[in-house]
Amino acid sequence: MPTIPVYAAPSAKAPLERTTVERRAIGESDVLIDIHFAGICHSDIHQARDGWGEGIYPMVPGHEIAGTVAATGPGVTRFAVGDRVGVGCLVDSCRECDNCRAGLEQHCSGGAVPTYNGRHKDGEPTYGGYAKQIVVDENYTLRIPDALPLDVAAPLLCAGITTYSPLRHWNAGPGKKVAVVGMGGLGHMAVRIAHALGAEVTVLSQTLGKREDGLRLGATHYHATSDPATFEELRDRFDLIVSTVSAPLDFDRYLSLLRTDGALVNVGAPEEPVSLNLFSLLMGRKTLAGSNIGGIRETQEMLDFCAEHGIGSEIELIEAHQINDAYERVLRSDVRYRFVIDTATL
Ligand SMILES: [Zn+2]
Ligand SMILES: [Zn+2]
Repeated sequence: MPTIPVYAAPSAKAPLERTTVERRAIGESDVLIDIHFAGICHSDIHQARDGWGEGIYPMVPGHEIAGTVAATGPGVTRFAVGDRVGVGCLVDSCRECDNCRAGLEQHCSGGAVPTYNGRHKDGEPTYGGYAKQIVVDENYTLRIPDALPLDVAAPLLCAGITTYSPLRHWNAGPGKKVAVVGMGGLGHMAVRIAHALGAEVTVLSQTLGKREDGLRLGATHYHATSDPATFEELRDRFDLIVSTVSAPLDFDRYLSLLRTDGALVNVGAPEEPVSLNLFSLLMGRKTLAGSNIGGIRETQEMLDFCAEHGIGSEIELIEAHQINDAYERVLRSDVRYRFVIDTATL
């Protein structure tokens, strides 16, 4: 089996280091992708450090992958050598359940196969994007339009779809007031996408420190949640609130910002269970919901939408040897707004 250079966590306690893994041979419907760029998602850090348990080591993180097709299996019909492609958070699913048939592979009843820290149907571990190459079934490979540079497109494969999907599902658009909680890797994408969809966007961030960026990326209003006056001023204001933070929110407070029939959707995941007063939902017929990435079809739709509207991620390009430092900086929220690894430096 071919060997590829990667950056991997040898164990939960160890920093990531350069090594190699064996990738599978190119199957009938597979494409071999030369990876050019890989984004660093907050969940890479959780998983590399076994924050969710049952990590598979060595672990090659990375599910924000952009590159070009280097070879194709004999049955591949949708891609050719040289095509610009991306891979997101999942690389396979059962393909038969109601969710898969509906294009909701992320909710596959049999469990979708994650791009890394998972196992293929044959039991072999999956390895992600901090690598020179990856082999992926063409049905789980996305096309990156020419209008999107590959480096700023990479984070769209997780951060982009994670925010696009709930914005679309809950009909962010003209005439709608949308609040984005948190101005980080996910939040800055939510601002850009909600604005491009035509909604009026408000950022709710702990401080006003990133206000200039928020307004530049499309927000009309920017408020500090550390200021109690914010919650008075914005009462009954929003049709939709998308929370991108993983710290537990005071849900009762945030729900008070929704107008009747409004929805508060979480795409960040606090590690601990949360609580709320159900009267916060009863009064105003409000919805508290969650959303997790998006299916393959919707991810392609998101890429096409972003290309049409000139939306990429705001990135800080790094070399592979900077990955461990970048992890520390992500944990300190010291990045504007996504680290992307130039895999030529691997
Ligand atoms: Zn991610
Ligand atoms: Zn399925």
